[in-house]
Amino acid sequence: MRNLLRYLELMLVLLLWPASGFIAQADSDDWQIWKVDGVEYVEMTDVCKFYRYVPKEGRPGFKNYGSKAHTISVKAGKQDFYVNNYRYILSFPIREHNGELLISAVDMKKLVDPVLRPVHNKQKGIITTVVIDAGHGGHDAGAVSPWAREKDCNLSVARRLKVRLEKAGLKVVMTRDKDFFLTLGQRVAIANQTPNCLFVSIHHNSGRRAAKGIETFTLAPHGTTSPFARTRRREALAGNNQDSANIALATAVHSRAIRNTGAIDRGIQRARFSVLCTITRPAILFEGGFVSNPEEGRLISTPAYQDKLADSLAQGILSYIATIQSKPLKTRNTRSGGGSIHGGSNKYRGTTRLR
Ligand SMILES: [Zn+2]
Repeated sequence: MRNLLRYLELMLVLLLWPASGFIAQADSDDWQIWKVDGVEYVEMTDVCKFYRYVPKEGRPGFKNYGSKAHTISVKAGKQDFYVNNYRYILSFPIREHNGELLISAVDMKKLVDPVLRPVHNKQKGIITTVVIDAGHGGHDAGAVSPWAREKDCNLSVARRLKVRLEKAGLKVVMTRDKDFFLTLGQRVAIANQTPNCLFVSIHHNSGRRAAKGIETFTLAPHGTTSPFARTRRREALAGNNQDSANIALATAVHSRAIRNTGAIDRGIQRARFSVLCTITRPAILFEGGFVSNPEEGRLISTPAYQDKLADSLAQGILSYIATIQSKPLKTRNTRSGGGSIHGGSNKYRGTTRLR
């Protein structure tokens, strides 16, 4: 009987549910939750209240909010989200309702908060080792153009990164240190068998001749979609256990790469690439530029540029490790986040966890 009642109740809810529309959910802990097409959203006003952000000047055409340390920029209908002018691609577009901007709860929890307050994502144990994965190899050349061959550029940047990380006292495991082929599964297995490590896969892109710039991929959170992960997945993948670590690591690396090279910022993006799905370590896939672009292709194959990429990766990895292994400062102001994983101070405040 109870089951039948629940079934009827569910049917009634489904019948009343508009195909598309804004449905107010019960607010929880001062957060007004809206449901749109099955996705939960929160109001930017509440986001700002939580971080004690105020409207400020910033990116033209966007609404900008922030504190001294951070500026976040959003725009209705856009999946672009900027923190201190570094670009992220949200899992769901920003919505507008009654003049209020809404951001999806999953983006808030899986992107905004771990980026603004990475110290909350302290992981058990410490990182002692970096597994560097030079993409492709052997018969698999990756992207090829008259200016560069991806597998060679990947390996060259990987070797330069190894030197830098070892100098800083970290252990390094290379999935390949020569020109040979490894399956994606073998690369993941090496990382999963290496204790206390994080995983960085190094690639270079190809595309339209005009396409250029740097992008960094992390695993798409479950229940989300992206241009590189078209279907929403209800079940979490093994890699999703590291969602917060992944986005924080990506932020640390990507922002330095953009700053050091001056390359076009194609953003931190979500994907379900094989090497990211079943990995049980913090993991990113870094694309250092387009071999298919005449200008960037030439640049990528020069030792000077490869050094810049290796410097950026090393600085980002070291900053990430320093940040997650630092202790959150307990202050009266439990909600504000100071500092920035983008390269500013590493002092993070706040002890409030998001739901
Ligand atoms: Zn590749």
